[in-house]
Amino acid sequence: MGSYPSSVQDVFSHSSLSSYENCPRKYAFRYIEKIQVDTEGIEAFVGKRVHEILERLYQFVDDGVVPPLPQVLKRYEANFDDAYNPEKIRIVRNNLSISHYRAMGAKGIENFYRRHYPFDSGETLGLERPIRFNLDENGQYRIRGIIDRLARAPDGAIEIHDYKTSARMPAAKYLRRDRQLSLYEIAIRDEGFEGEIRLVWWYVTPNRMFVTRRNEGELNQVKTEVTNLIDAIRTETLWEPRKGPLCSWCEYKEICPLFRADDAEKRTTHDNFEKDGEKDSEEDGEDPSNSQLSLL
Ligand code: SF4
Repeated sequence: MGSYPSSVQDVFSHSSLSSYENCPRKYAFRYIEKIQVDTEGIEAFVGKRVHEILERLYQFVDDGVVPPLPQVLKRYEANFDDAYNPEKIRIVRNNLSISHYRAMGAKGIENFYRRHYPFDSGETLGLERPIRFNLDENGQYRIRGIIDRLARAPDGAIEIHDYKTSARMPAAKYLRRDRQLSLYEIAIRDEGFEGEIRLVWWYVTPNRMFVTRRNEGELNQVKTEVTNLIDAIRTETLWEPRKGPLCSWCEYKEICPLFRADDAEKRTTHDNFEKDGEKDSEEDGEDPSNSQLSLL
């Protein structure tokens, strides 16, 4: 790969790659023009609260203390109240209240807690553990990320755990192709971890878990696909908006050329599209908020 515009990212993440795949214009708003937005979708907000509570829970466990569930939930409620600002949180599904989302987060934590109590299975090797690695020998394709929990299972295998707070778990065929945890496995192997590595998703709201493994060929395939995707980003010139179900959750919708308030005609078109898009998404078994949360 030759030179590329210096405004393009040097180090990519699964989130930034997904952002480009979903909509090049959104990627440009966020990662090239670096337009700051001081609002946040409720799904992402709740996801952060759940993640911070599960991290804190395992910190206690590492110190030899398992806090009782009521104490864990009390901390969640307190963190929620401290962080919540109604003027900064966007709720797209206006038929759902803040109480609904708040209770959904609490239910996810309770599910996770009851499933893992007394938290004596496996050894935690890292919490919110940053990773950073190169896909190539020359360091032209650099990736970063954060592993929710890295653990050694009782059978000695390394497990890469990821927490999801969306309402439903995607079909297994999507998780088997998932790029995020594959990249994390590449990073962990790059660090010298050998032997079996398992990828583990915890969908805390529906209380479901999914485990899979990647073989060397699959990891090499991910490397090739991500390298090609980074090349596409580096040679992109148009940064066109791409309508989709996630537009409703897009923090740049107000400044997007397709949705600006002064363009009534496009707005009407969008409204029709959006209804169709959400229907399609439901039929596919994918909740638009799943992808939104994956951008965290
Ligand atoms: S509103 Fe939709 S088309 Fe516009 S930038 Fe956001 S995701 Fe892209």
